[in-house]
Amino acid sequence: MTADGKASLDIKAFFRTGPIRWLVVGGVFLIAAAAIGTAIMVYNFRERALKSSERELENTVLLLERHFDEKFEDLAAVQRDIITQIQLAGTATPGNFGSRMSTPEMHQILKAKTSGHPDVAGANVFDSEGRLINSSEVWPVPDVSVSDRAFFKAFKSGAAEDLALIELVWGRLYKSWVIIFAYKITGPHGEFLGLVTRAATPASFEKYFGSVALGDGAAVSMYHRDGSLLARYPHIERKIGLSVNNSPIYQKILAGHGTIALTSPIDGLDRVASARVLKNFPIAIVASKTVSAALADWRDQTRFLIGAGGSFVLLMTAMLSLAVRKLSRQHRMEKQRLDTAINNMTQGLLLFDASQRLVVCNQRYIEMYGLSAEVLKPGCSFREIIAHRKATGSFVGDDEEYCSQVLRDIWQRNSRIIDTTDGRSVHIINEPLADGGWVATHEDITERRHAEERITHLAHYDALTDLPNRALFHERLKQELARIEPGEQLAVLYIDIDEFKSVNDTLGHMIGDELLKSVAVSLGRCVGGADFVARLGGDEFAIVQTAIKTPAAASDLAMRIFDSIRAPYDCHGHQVTTDASIGIALAPQHGADLDQILKNADLAMYAAKSAGRRTHRFFEPAMDAQVKARRVLEMDLRQAIADQALEVYYQPSVSLQGNRINGCEALVRWRHAERGMISPAEFIPIAEETGLINQLGEWVLATACAEATTWPADINLAVNVSPVQFRSGTLALKIVAALSASGLAANRLELEITEAVLIRDDDAALETLHQLRAIGVRIALDDFGTGYSSLSYLQRFPFDKIKIDRCFVNDIAEPSGSSGIVRAVVNIAAERHMTTTAEGVETLQQQELLRALGCTEMQGYLFSAAKPAAEIRQLFFAHRPRPVAVA
Ligand code: C2E
Ligand code: CA
Ligand code: CA
Repeated sequence: MTADGKASLDIKAFFRTGPIRWLVVGGVFLIAAAAIGTAIMVYNFRERALKSSERELENTVLLLERHFDEKFEDLAAVQRDIITQIQLAGTATPGNFGSRMSTPEMHQILKAKTSGHPDVAGANVFDSEGRLINSSEVWPVPDVSVSDRAFFKAFKSGAAEDLALIELVWGRLYKSWVIIFAYKITGPHGEFLGLVTRAATPASFEKYFGSVALGDGAAVSMYHRDGSLLARYPHIERKIGLSVNNSPIYQKILAGHGTIALTSPIDGLDRVASARVLKNFPIAIVASKTVSAALADWRDQTRFLIGAGGSFVLLMTAMLSLAVRKLSRQHRMEKQRLDTAINNMTQGLLLFDASQRLVVCNQRYIEMYGLSAEVLKPGCSFREIIAHRKATGSFVGDDEEYCSQVLRDIWQRNSRIIDTTDGRSVHIINEPLADGGWVATHEDITERRHAEERITHLAHYDALTDLPNRALFHERLKQELARIEPGEQLAVLYIDIDEFKSVNDTLGHMIGDELLKSVAVSLGRCVGGADFVARLGGDEFAIVQTAIKTPAAASDLAMRIFDSIRAPYDCHGHQVTTDASIGIALAPQHGADLDQILKNADLAMYAAKSAGRRTHRFFEPAMDAQVKARRVLEMDLRQAIADQALEVYYQPSVSLQGNRINGCEALVRWRHAERGMISPAEFIPIAEETGLINQLGEWVLATACAEATTWPADINLAVNVSPVQFRSGTLALKIVAALSASGLAANRLELEITEAVLIRDDDAALETLHQLRAIGVRIALDDFGTGYSSLSYLQRFPFDKIKIDRCFVNDIAEPSGSSGIVRAVVNIAAERHMTTTAEGVETLQQQELLRALGCTEMQGYLFSAAKPAAEIRQLFFAHRPRPVAVA
């Protein structure tokens, strides 16, 4: 974990435990193994090189021993031969030995006997006093004595047991080192007569040694058994005669043979030496080689081996460091990614090891409980964390018990939901890990829980009124249907708010919604405790009334509902009155299953609507047929529009002042094949509900415009336009198209619209009206006085005309009638330069009153009902305006 408390994995820990550790350990092991292996090989090769040198030396000395044993045996044989000769020459005594030996004949014999060994000097014969008495080399002999020589003294005194002695001496004859081979000559009684010697120089042996090729650093020496050096190759003059008694090689000489590594007593070099003593002579041959020469090949090998081994180690090290670097980089990147991932998790995360100590903790966990990053460091224990939470207030209760419980359950995956002190819900999942530790995730599910609760609620309750919705209503009704007691009944009331659509259209959705909420509250107040109110959607409500004895209980409830909802509601400052159509179906009387009872309640509700709304109806089997009939009518209308089976009638309007026809209103007529004339009051609402009004309206407009072009130019055309037609957005275009198709001047066309078009803040409708006004089309406000707050709508758009509704004209002549209202309207219109048309004028009295009130024109049966186009044309022709007699 980093200092800022964010989760992170320890890079050192990764090295300690991660794959890199094994890579490094493996690599180092391999390198060590290579080094050790090379060292062992080098050592083995060295030993082998030394051994092979030793073997070579041993073989050499063995050969040399054989050679010199034979050679010296030959020499000895010659000397023995001479002695035999001397002895054969007659009994010799110390007295006559000298005279008998010093003869030229004897010189000749000696010369002949010694001729075979050129490297060994000839034989010399000395008498018992040590004087030279004959020689194979010279005759007559010089005066030479050997009486002072050790070998002579040994023979003479009898100290020497051997008949033959070898000695190195500084030769007086030759003035150099000489190796003397002396043989004792004895008389018949063993008396000492004299001796025969032969002499060889070290050089004569050294020459032979040199020919035995042993290579660099090799040396071959000849020692006397007493340890003195007799000859050596390579020759070192001052070392001839040196005694090696103190050197280990002497031990080998004493032992007869042996090989040893030593520092040479002759040249001071480290050598391997092999010694062997001749079989029959007190002479040892030592062959040696300097260790450095013995190891020459080995050194080359070693150099190569170390080179190869070193390269391997270097290569390995390079590869290892490359791999380590790559792995660490990879690890670092992975670590970064992991850090980012765990620190951006929506859940809090804790990772513990087997000893319940924290390994990783993410930032989210710290934030979730408002903890200190200082405390939540790797290594702190689970108990410490909970204790810290308790201390900082995000944990309440017995922390010890909680810890024990978690630790007891940790061997298997477990989850729990806890409620925090600040009212949140946290879902904790503990997941055990293979290493004995565990990972804990903490997810704040407060929002989710609320959302789930909300969703569950929304699934069953209506968002606007908070009443049970259709789904819950069906569920409850099903249950209630199943538990109807014998002798009891259940009533389903379908309640449809009358003209709710126009409230919505005229006052806007906000007020519409407010009205629905108020209705919901009212309905709730009307029902008993066991009853159940639901909103089925739109302006439809339903009530399940249970355990009723008679249908009267249901109609009583309907009455209560009417009383309750007919009282005006205050919706955002608007006093809104409303009413309802209620359909009632009874179970089991009108159906025992859900679908049946619902369908029948619905039918009853439509029946109430068809009966002029504001009432209730119980289901009757005949209703089904009526609804079907309406559906048939809809299909017939569709067909009639398609077949152009409709007709347009025209109703004139006349000026009250000049009594002349100002214009005609187009009114659609449907002559049904079976039912005869059907009033537009019946089929226009169907056309509006189904959208057929768009087609129908377009057709009326086109037909009427075409017709109007045949009229006198001062007679205008008025066409009704439904609010539904405004919703399409293409109305202005269609009107322009109808005008241009017919060739009717735009200023001869007047559109009659109702308040409903404008009353919602419908900018699109206003825009359309302004566009039409701009091209000269006039706009009349139809049915004025039947809406909600009529006067305020006059502000919205500068209408050209107000058509005062029939209901004001009807009672205009009565004392308590609407003449006051009509006067007010006429005055307002005059102020705003609008004309007024009174609708439904049936009597002369009405006409006169309207004229007196200042109304501009009138329309009604008094002058003419709506008539087919042909009759209207005749009317134009027949009608001659007459001036009104002004009283
Ligand atoms: P409205 O626009 O108020 O049309 C006037 C209605 O009053 C017509 O009924 C007309 O025949 C009737 N009327 C005229 N003079 C008198 C009278 O002196 N006394 C009485 N009692 N009634 C009179 P109609 O033709 O049945 O039309 C009913 C409604 O249908 C119209 O009321 C209008 O709102 C609608 N309508 C008719 N044709 C069309 C149409 O082509 N398009 C649209 N959108 N609506 C239409
Ligand atoms: Ca009209
Ligand atoms: Ca009207």
